[in-house]
Amino acid sequence: VAGVLYPQQVDMVRKKKIRAFQEAMLAWYDKEGRKFPWREGGLTSFQFVLTEILLQRTKAETINKFYPIFFSCYQSWEEIIASGQEHLEEVLRPIGLFRQRASRLYKLALEMLKRKGIFPNDRVELEAIPFMGQYIANAVEVFLFNIPAPLLDVNMARVLERVFKARTLSDIRYDPYLQQLAQKIVDHPRLQEINWAILDHAALVCTIRLPKCAKCPVNSICNYWKSSNKR
Ligand code: SF4
Repeated sequence: VAGVLYPQQVDMVRKKKIRAFQEAMLAWYDKEGRKFPWREGGLTSFQFVLTEILLQRTKAETINKFYPIFFSCYQSWEEIIASGQEHLEEVLRPIGLFRQRASRLYKLALEMLKRKGIFPNDRVELEAIPFMGQYIANAVEVFLFNIPAPLLDVNMARVLERVFKARTLSDIRYDPYLQQLAQKIVDHPRLQEINWAILDHAALVCTIRLPKCAKCPVNSICNYWKSSNKR
């Protein structure tokens, strides 16, 4: 029937759009991506995971300044435990949410001590670690094991939903559509960079208010931009 797309065609169109999105995002990232010390490589698993926990719900620019202070206090899970939870609260105070973060980090440090600092390369086991959470488990897979997983937070969700389609469930972690879409998008040879590209784009271009659509590298395929131009 003219004008009607069959499921296979829908799938092809979607794949094409995902490819275009990946290419445009990575080309943009190569020119405009943010530089942070934790992106330079050579971090221990302790540093990777701690950095990702610090980055949750805090601007990367804030963590950039705080990063050397934190890692001059702690070099290992053992040092966190030896210094105590109150010390951790004091260290974390300048970046906010310090009580929740200290409690979570301290409990994670206790668990990691039992595990001799080794993260399991198995999703079920990884998720069984208390205080890990879906986002950090994904970060462990990406950075420690090179397994495709999206660093899907509200910022990445905003970009994907604007370009592709809105999720139906309010909790990102359980929305099957968004989870599958994000998974397909980051399944790319430049796994770390595609994740960083989308997060940087969310912070610099596709902002919550007043996104810079006219200068956006994916505006030609973005649903939000198309519908804004129709109004
Ligand atoms: S065109 Fe606008 S809404 Fe769409 S991804 Fe770019 S900045 Fe975001």
